[in-house]
This record gives sequence, structure tokens and C-alpha cells, in this order.
Amino acid sequence: MKTILVIAEHRRNELRPVSLELVTAAQNLRQGDDKVVVAVIGSQADNFVKNLSVAGVDEVVTVKAPTAEFDADLFEASVNALIDSKKPAAVLLAHSVDSLGYAATLATKGKFGFATDVFKVEYDGADLVATRAGYNQKVNVEVDFPGKDCVILALRAGSFKPAEEAGSPAVSSFDLPAGQSRTKNLEFVEQGGGNDVDITTVDFILSIGRGIAEENNVEQFRELAEMAGATLCCSRPIADAGWLPKSRQVGQSGKVVGSCKLYVAMGISGSIQHMAGMKHVPTIVGVNTDPNASIFTIAKYGIVGDIFEIEEELRNQLA
Ligand SMILES: Cc1cc2nc3c(=O)[nH]c(=O)nc-3n(C[C@H](O)[C@H](O)[C@H](O)COP(=O)(O)OP(=O)(O)OC[C@H]3O[C@@H](n4cnc5c(N)ncnc54)[C@H](O)[C@@H]3O)c2cc1C
Repeated sequence: MKTILVIAEHRRNELRPVSLELVTAAQNLRQGDDKVVVAVIGSQADNFVKNLSVAGVDEVVTVKAPTAEFDADLFEASVNALIDSKKPAAVLLAHSVDSLGYAATLATKGKFGFATDVFKVEYDGADLVATRAGYNQKVNVEVDFPGKDCVILALRAGSFKPAEEAGSPAVSSFDLPAGQSRTKNLEFVEQGGGNDVDITTVDFILSIGRGIAEENNVEQFRELAEMAGATLCCSRPIADAGWLPKSRQVGQSGKVVGSCKLYVAMGISGSIQHMAGMKHVPTIVGVNTDPNASIFTIAKYGIVGDIFEIEEELRNQLA
């Protein structure tokens, strides 16, 4: 019997959706009497127990930390102590800014197996195999970890369906190991556009990417979105350039558009980082001049064409 340890992620007193995706990934690794243990670390750790009590979780462990915010030193020390105590075969974390702040150090110091940006995990006989993209997303790479009793895997958000069915796991607490944090949280600063629409709750999105070429062209797509009743969103280069607020950025370092039913991607290539925020959407329409653009690998409908011509045609149809 082995243990799979999941480290839940939260921010501003809200559980991040990826936490329940990690539970599903843990289920994929479960064999026979294996145990799935979910640990949550933070001053408000108890608040997350209810949301983490889903089917397939055997135990939720709360680790009371002095701060509600993420702290790399405290997380590293806590997860290391949990590994010592629970002896997990695998530790699943989100491939996120938080985890990447401590996971590599933890793995190196503990001589554990380690892989990041993993989107598939399974056992091949007794061997744990993690799949991640390589060579700029051109190939999928299967990684195994010969001789490693414990493997730390940072999983890509959006790769697993979140576990939803209610469960009734045992709940326990775990003492935060002694140790010093080297950071102090002064304040939480919301990224630009804090009062903007919450794109995680809308159901129809028209999203623009670098294909729009220049800032002057944003306005016509804003008008089109308004005419169609869609929320205008974007890929990261558009937000980085300040053409739309950061709150409209979809993707790994932007937002996951959890409620969206229809996503029209115009002039967006479909990088893994962008797809992390939208590939779950049931109806994706890709518009791109490049027939080999990655967006077409997940689009239900694809238009190989110029976004400006399509924009004009749609505008005529909607007028
Ligand atoms: C740690 C990290 C986090 C990241 N987080 C995010 C994130 O959250 N969200 C995100 O989006 N990116 C993110 N990125 C960036 C990501 O890797 C890509 O660089 C980015 O998604 C590319 O944006 P794009 O598709 O708009 O641009 P490009 O990749 O340049 O694609 C533009 C597309 O437009 C097409 N095109 C050009 N002109 C036209 C036209 N006239 N008509 C139709 N099609 C046209 C081109 O064929 C091309 O496919 C992140 C990167 C890193 C390293």
C-alpha cells in the first residue's frame, strides 16, 4: 500500500481550482489499498477542509502556519516534514508560481524524483511515469524515476477534471516544523484591472492575440465582442503590452475561464500556457491564418483565415 500526497493550493482565503484537479490525478495513481492524503498549509487551513472533502480523499491534513499567504520556506519545510511522516510514493502539487518557489529546492535537497508541467501521470507496472511537453511543445516526453522512492510532480492546471463528488475523509492536523521564514508579506496587490469583470464567471468569450498586430486594432474587436454579447479577453502578449488589463488575460499566469461555454480565439496560436486557461471549454472556435496553429488541435470549429476579414463578416452578420 502506498500513499499519494496532494498539496492543496489557495490564495486570499480561496481554494484554487487546481487543488481538486490534483485529487483526480491522485486517483489515477491509486491502486488497490493506496491512500490519498491532501495537505493544506496556512493560518486558515481549517477553512478549506470542507471543500477538500471530496470522494477519493482518505485524509485531509491541516498544517497551521503563521501566515495565510504563501511562504516558500514554510511550504518547503512543511512538505518535507509531511514526506518524512507519510512516506508518499508521489507528491502532487500545482505547476504554479507558488509551487515553483519551493518544489525544486525540496526535490534537490531530498534527492526525490521531480518533474514539472506534467499533464499525465500513471503507473506502468511498478514505475511511475509522468508526461510533459518538450522541445517547445513539439513532442511529449515520458519521464520515469528509476530508484526514487518519492517523486514530486508539479501538474499543469486544466489537465485533469476537478474531483467534485462529496466525500468524508478523516481530518487530522500536523505541526508546522520549526524553522524560520525569510519572507514577510507586506500587502496583497491585485493585478491591474481589479474592479474589472470577473472573466472566470462569464460564459461567452471573444479572445484576441498577437494576430491583432497593433493596439489601434483592439477597439474593433471590443465593439465586435459587445455586439455579440461576449466578454473580450486576450493572450498574455496583449496584456503585457497594456492593450487590455491583466484581468482579461487567459492562461497559466492569467485566469482559468471556468464557466465559459463558448471561446472564440482570434489570432491566438494556442500555446500550452494559454490553453491552460481555456482548453476545458466545450466549444472553442479558432481563427488563424496558420493551418498548423496549435489552437486547431483543441478547437471544435476552426477557420483558417484572416481575423480582420472574419471580424468584418461577423460585424455585418450581427448588424
Ligand atoms: C511562465 C509563462 C507563463 C505564461 N502565461 C501565459 C498566459 O497566462 N496566457 C497566455 O496567453 N500566454 C502565456 N504565456 C506566453 C505564451 O507562451 C505565448 O507566448 C503566448 O500565449 C502567445 O500569445 P499569442 O498566441 O497571442 O501570440 P503568438 O504565439 O505570436 O500567435 C499569434 C497567432 O496569430 C496568428 N495570426 C497573425 N496574424 C493573423 C491574422 N491577421 N489573422 C489570423 N491569425 C493571425 C499567427 O498565425 C499566430 O498563430 C506564458 C509564458 C510563460 C513562459
